[in-house]
Parts: sequence; C-alpha cells; structure tokens
Amino acid sequence: ADNRPQRIDPQALRRWPLPPLSEEADKEERGRIVVVAGSREIPGAAVLAATAALRVGAGKLVIATGRSVAAQMAFAVPEARVIALPETPGGGFEAGGAQLLEQCIVAAHAVVIGPGLMDADATCAFMQRLMPMLRDRAVVLDALAMDCVSAIGRFPQPVLLTPHAGEMAHLTKADKDEVLADPVAAAVRAARSWNAVVAVKGPTTAIAAPDGRTWLHEGGNCGLATSGSGDTLAGAIGGLAARGAPLEQACAWGVVVHAQAGERLADRLGPVGYLAREIAQEMVAVLRTLD
Ligand code: AMP
Ligand code: MG
Repeated sequence: ADNRPQRIDPQALRRWPLPPLSEEADKEERGRIVVVAGSREIPGAAVLAATAALRVGAGKLVIATGRSVAAQMAFAVPEARVIALPETPGGGFEAGGAQLLEQCIVAAHAVVIGPGLMDADATCAFMQRLMPMLRDRAVVLDALAMDCVSAIGRFPQPVLLTPHAGEMAHLTKADKDEVLADPVAAAVRAARSWNAVVAVKGPTTAIAAPDGRTWLHEGGNCGLATSGSGDTLAGAIGGLAARGAPLEQACAWGVVVHAQAGERLADRLGPVGYLAREIAQEMVAVLRTLD
C-alpha cells in the first residue's frame, strides 16, 4: 500500500464529493448540529464555531453554552436554539450539566465540543460524563475538550481532534519542535493510539485516520493565524459531518474550505487583518466553487 499522505486541495475535493443535497430536504435532513462551547471570557468562540457550521450548510443548530452568556448568545446567533449550562468558576461546565444535553445530542448528527472553554479539569470531568451520550454521533473535539484523551486514553468510537502543534505537544507530552518536524508521524501515532481522526493544524495540516490513512494540506497564509480562526475550522468540520460526510472527509473538506476562505479574503482585503467571522462567512462562496 502507498503510505504517503494524500494531498488535499480543491482539485482533490472535487474528486471526493460530499453526500448529495436534495432540493426537497428540510432542515432536519440537512443536518442537525450541537455546538458545546463558549465561556464567560470567551463566548465568541461558540458564535464563530456555530456560524461556520451553518455557513457550510448544516440545517439546524443548537448551542450549549455557559449560563452567564446564554442570553447574549441567543441574540448573537439568532439562528440557534440555546441551552444554558451551569458553569465552574474557572470557565468550564459543571459535569452534572451534561445531563441537560442528552436529548439534543441523541437527536444530533454531529457535535462540536470545546471552543472557548476554560478550566481543563472541569472540562475533562464534563467530557467523561458526556462521552456515553455521544455514541454513533460524529464528534469533533477542539481546544480544551481534547484534554480528555489523557483520562479516556482510547475513544470507544472514532472521534475527531483538531490540535495545533502546541496543543498536540501538550496532548502527547512531546516537544512542539518534534511535532513540527514531522506532523504526519505525530498524527499517525496519535490516531492509532486514541482511535481518533487527528488533524495537526498549521501552515501545513496533517490528518491521520485510526486505520493509518493520511492526508496533507499545505498552504502557508499568515492571515489565518488570527484569533478565532481555529474555532471556525472546528465548526465547519462539524457542519460538514452533520451533512453526512464521514469524519475524515468532513475534516479534509473543512481544512481546504477554511484555507480557501483565507486565500480569497487575503486577495480581496489584504494578507492580514481579516477576521475569523469573515472566514466563516466566506466559506459559503468557497463551497460553491467546489461543486
Ligand atoms: P487555532 O490556533 O486553534 O486558532 O487554529 C488556527 C487555524 O489557522 C488552523 O486551522 C491553522 O491551520 C490555521 N493557521 C494558523 N497559522 C497558519 C499559517 N501560517 N498558514 C496557514 N494556516 C494557518
Ligand atoms: Mg484553537
């Protein structure tokens, strides 16, 4: 077997089409997504991830966020149903609050967890409570939600993680330089050991599936190195998964769509200075070019 990573770019995606949309579909069939994100200090991460999920075509959105920001969230994202979760003082969710999500998670196709959460310990406890509810859902873990791998060790079903090199170093107790020297190898080892699709993101993004398949995206564009950028990536991947794409396909598409959105904004506005919310917005136009 050829074990070199497969390059992903717009051309490669056109040969790997998303599940077809039916013009007759209602919003339920278009894909139901739950975004579990946002704390008192970083509520915007939930806005960005949720918006990106809708921008790539998910049909119905629930945001589960901290009680202290839930009311504002509902106005910031008027498209969403908002569930308010009890918070820890450190900016995480109380583990007991996971119960409040059971019904909407059972109904969801995809769940994105992590953007804007603080309090690693609380988030880990919350994740362990949530894990049994996530069976057979497409699950995207980002930011602090990924820290639960240290407690869970190996996921009972493949989930997707989107660490940047620094987060990957933290999760694997490696040096950031080691990760950067061979992100494909780092992704492959972690994917096997965690039973997860792992995307080590950066100017070069390496994706590995638990079965050893790998993909590589290359596209240095420093305008994408901006606050909230990764939140839009996680949301987009979740949205594509809600539309029915298998996790590794949703991941590959999300990475390319995110990068292309950055390219277009760089061309139109300038190499740096465009905003994460604009990356999410631009995804609509990018997807249109990938039909
Ligand atoms: P985060 O650090 O979680 O906000 O994620 C940053 C996002 O921006 C990831 O999708 C990275 O792949 C992307 N990114 C960061 N820096 C660059 C860069 N220099 N060139 C291209 N993409 C980048
Ligand atoms: Mg991030």
